[in-house]
Amino acid sequence: MKHIAIIGAGLGGLTAGALLAKNGYKVTLLEQHNRVGGSATTFKRGDFTCEVGLHEMDGTYTSPAVVDVFEKLGVYNNVTFVEPDEFFKIYSANGSFTMPNGVEKVQSALMSRFPEESSAIESYLKTVEALSINLNKLTKASWYHYALFPFIFWNIIKYRTKSTQEVMDKMFKSDALKLILNSNIGYYNDSASTLSFIMHAVGQDSYFRGGGWFIKGGSQKLSDYLASIIVDHGGEVITKANVIACNEGTIEYIKKKEHFTIECDKVISNISPEQTYKLYDIHYTESKEIGNSLLTVYLGFRKSLKSVYGKGAYSNFIFDSATSLKDIDTNISKDALEKEFIFVDYSQIDSGLAPEGKSFGAVCFIDNFEAWDSLDKEAYKEKKEKLIKSVLQKLELHYPKISELVEYAEAGTAKTVQRYIKTPQGTAYGFKPSPKQFFRIPQVKSKRVDHLYFVGQWVIAGGFSPAIISGELCYREIIKH
Ligand SMILES: Cc1cc2nc3c(=O)[nH]c(=O)nc-3n(C[C@H](O)[C@H](O)[C@H](O)COP(=O)(O)OP(=O)(O)OC[C@H]3O[C@@H](n4cnc5c(N)ncnc54)[C@H](O)[C@@H]3O)c2cc1C
Repeated sequence: MKHIAIIGAGLGGLTAGALLAKNGYKVTLLEQHNRVGGSATTFKRGDFTCEVGLHEMDGTYTSPAVVDVFEKLGVYNNVTFVEPDEFFKIYSANGSFTMPNGVEKVQSALMSRFPEESSAIESYLKTVEALSINLNKLTKASWYHYALFPFIFWNIIKYRTKSTQEVMDKMFKSDALKLILNSNIGYYNDSASTLSFIMHAVGQDSYFRGGGWFIKGGSQKLSDYLASIIVDHGGEVITKANVIACNEGTIEYIKKKEHFTIECDKVISNISPEQTYKLYDIHYTESKEIGNSLLTVYLGFRKSLKSVYGKGAYSNFIFDSATSLKDIDTNISKDALEKEFIFVDYSQIDSGLAPEGKSFGAVCFIDNFEAWDSLDKEAYKEKKEKLIKSVLQKLELHYPKISELVEYAEAGTAKTVQRYIKTPQGTAYGFKPSPKQFFRIPQVKSKRVDHLYFVGQWVIAGGFSPAIISGELCYREIIKH
């Protein structure tokens, strides 16, 4: 039986490990944290289960690749997914707008708000759908598809080098419309001007078509379930195991100050290529730009926000001063205390994160690792406290007296993400999905080390579904040999 060692229990490592274990491989998964999941984890504070990352997962029931993995692994029967009533709501200086779920509803909501842009809206929705279909096709393309590449994938060739901003500037006249269509830009990147339009198209089409989903009880439920498949099939999941070196056929880790070496036939890495090659003592410097990190203020409320403020949106983009995409760019460069943000009100769904009558919420924005890393311990702590006050003040404008309902508040910065999942600059999104970097054939198999494979945010893109799909690609590559 072939023995596969996996470095890191993020969604990529867990998916690959579960598929391999279920198909007869001996899997040993080594995770440096005390729990599995990477960004897909939760932690407990008093009555609250705090969701570390997940706002909305795309493709849960509609991405053919995700559905295939979830069906193979029995995920739908063991993990409960909950869908908010709408994709998101944005508050801006142009007024508020609710983006519904479902392409037809999206089209009619946009057209009734921007009737003068109706034909451009129709063409935009057709373009993102066609790009999404072709990109999915490309992941399973045969020689026949490649031979006819310019004919079948003409739209990929057309948009391959284009940024979202460039395409939108050509398509639409209204700045307000462009802002709405990029409300959730933070799910992908920091700016529309550096975001690949293909990445925007694939992500947005998936959310429009299939909605955004939460996992009841938090994303830890999915991570724990995937880990349980490995164990149930004779594999091992070892937490608090920090991998420190890899060699041909062996992998070394430290657990509770003790040094262990295990033998294995292949290694799957759920960490960045640069960090991985360092473990092999191979000189490798990453030339690609790294993607965003995120800051989250975790909030536990003594009441259900839905019971206090009534039915509202789950995912709220509170960009009160913004009129155009330029203002989103300006927001990114502001100090953390000044930034506008996303607010996820988990009380709007059956989230399972708080006991009856209470609720959990999260404020989130794109964060700058250096800005926190340059502070000493005291200044860092002080700024986090100030940040909590400043976000609550901004929330008060939409949820009057919300501060009085706060039972627990804690900020997790880019530095916190870096501490827990060990990614460079605390990124949760791998390489920046710019036009230059996003579109490429996913590199699952290492070109430098024969028995080494990659999964996770570094393979396709950041996000739950790309990480899961990377795990399946890796599994398919390994069973070939
Ligand atoms: C605040 C936040 C909000 C997010 N919101 C969403 C969202 O709404 N929707 C969405 O789709 N995505 C979201 N994401 C992104 C998504 O969670 C990630 O892109 C995805 O989970 C990354 O998975 P991964 O497989 O790359 O593993 P990672 O999460 O990167 O995990 C890697 C694992 O490797 C471990 N590790 C590192 N070094 C070692 C070592 N030397 N030895 C052993 N183990 C090691 C780490 O501890 C970690 O567990 C969010 C992320 C964050 C942080």
